[in-house]
Amino acid sequence: MLSAKETILILGLLFTAWLGSLVFDNLGWWLFAAAVIWIALQAQAFRRLHRWSTRPLGRPDNAPDTWFGLAYRPYRALLRQRARTHTALAQLREVLGLTEVIPDAVITLNANGEIESLNNAARQLLNLTDKDVGLRLAAVVRDPEFVAFLRTNTFDEPLEITSPFRQHQTLEARRFDAGTGRTVLFVRDITALNRLLTMRQDFIANVSHELRTPLTVINGYLEPLMDSEIPQEQRLELAGKLKPPVDRMQSLIRDLLVLTQLESGDSAQAPQPVAMRTLIAQVAAELKDLRPSGDSIELELLSDAKVLGIEKELHSVCTNLVANALRYSAESDSVKVSWINTDNGQVRLKVDDKGLGIPQEHLNRITERFYRVDMADSTKRGGTGLGLAIVKHVLRRHNSKLNVTSKLGRGSTFYCDFTPYSVNTPTPSQPSN
Ligand code: ADP
Repeated sequence: MLSAKETILILGLLFTAWLGSLVFDNLGWWLFAAAVIWIALQAQAFRRLHRWSTRPLGRPDNAPDTWFGLAYRPYRALLRQRARTHTALAQLREVLGLTEVIPDAVITLNANGEIESLNNAARQLLNLTDKDVGLRLAAVVRDPEFVAFLRTNTFDEPLEITSPFRQHQTLEARRFDAGTGRTVLFVRDITALNRLLTMRQDFIANVSHELRTPLTVINGYLEPLMDSEIPQEQRLELAGKLKPPVDRMQSLIRDLLVLTQLESGDSAQAPQPVAMRTLIAQVAAELKDLRPSGDSIELELLSDAKVLGIEKELHSVCTNLVANALRYSAESDSVKVSWINTDNGQVRLKVDDKGLGIPQEHLNRITERFYRVDMADSTKRGGTGLGLAIVKHVLRRHNSKLNVTSKLGRGSTFYCDFTPYSVNTPTPSQPSN
């Protein structure tokens, strides 16, 4: 189909040829000349069309001829296709951008196992760089277990391995089939999670062990107690022996409940100004019977400062520290409890003993639950292994922390500093653990 412009051009050429033949005669030559002009114009248009076809996303010239009429239809289709591609690319970029903020490594692999894309976590966890895109992942991360995992055909089983790059780190990898042979790989750092699981298992094992010991003792006494052949007085004597293991179980359960409550972070009581001088004197009076001599606690209460906190919890801190000092020192050695102002405006609770002392390498572990320097000795002395864990939690809730200095065979000093209470003292924060 000729366009209107082309029709006018042809008619114009024919009219000019006819006019020329009227004036100069020889219509044949005039028509021949018009045909030559027409063919030359078509050849020029075809050249432009050819030029456009080499870069079809450029706009074709608006020349009034059929060649470009033909070119416009594919040109528009190409434009629509290009717009669709742009939208898809923008969406892809957005999705890839989102994967950047995911803390787990996300890597897409093509059917050959070559990396198509990776996120920031993948760069950090697997030491990948953008230069690795296009390379086979198995050739970049050469851990044999990981390589074998990449080669499996099933997608159900996750892989747990020690990081090939950081020995202390445990990684978990999962693969998902993304269709058309592609795979998405998720890798996450499960070191902290594993540590928590181990801690929970250890805790359950410890509690079971701690409860089993007194229960075994009780069980041992029960049989003769139920034996009617054994005289009454002897059985009464045996019944008396049940008290220590029962007491031990009671203290253990009490400490466990206290610790659980502290760790859960909720306290039914609101902080109140606590008169520490009175509280310390009260604890000393309660504990003095732990020693037959009864005068083994020396008090140095030089400060009147109060502390904003929970009285019951602060009482438990003093009790645990003083009881430990008495428990881990000789009968003849006295224990000194101080409540003194420090140079930097704080007020310090300090418990000094001249007892066993603690080897240096144990110092940063003694506040762990059930951690004992000498398990057998500690159990013999009647500890639950939870006292200092409770102290640590309470102090944290009162914006303080436990400090220990100790010399083996010479004694230990446990101390913690508090902000003295004034009307402007901020309420202590309540961390969740
Ligand atoms: P326990 O109930 O066994 O005393 P704690 O949590 O109170 O548990 O203390 C943990 C460990 O720290 C104790 O088993 C003991 O080995 C050591 N310890 C605590 N206080 C003292 C101290 N004053 N002198 C020597 N060792 C101590």
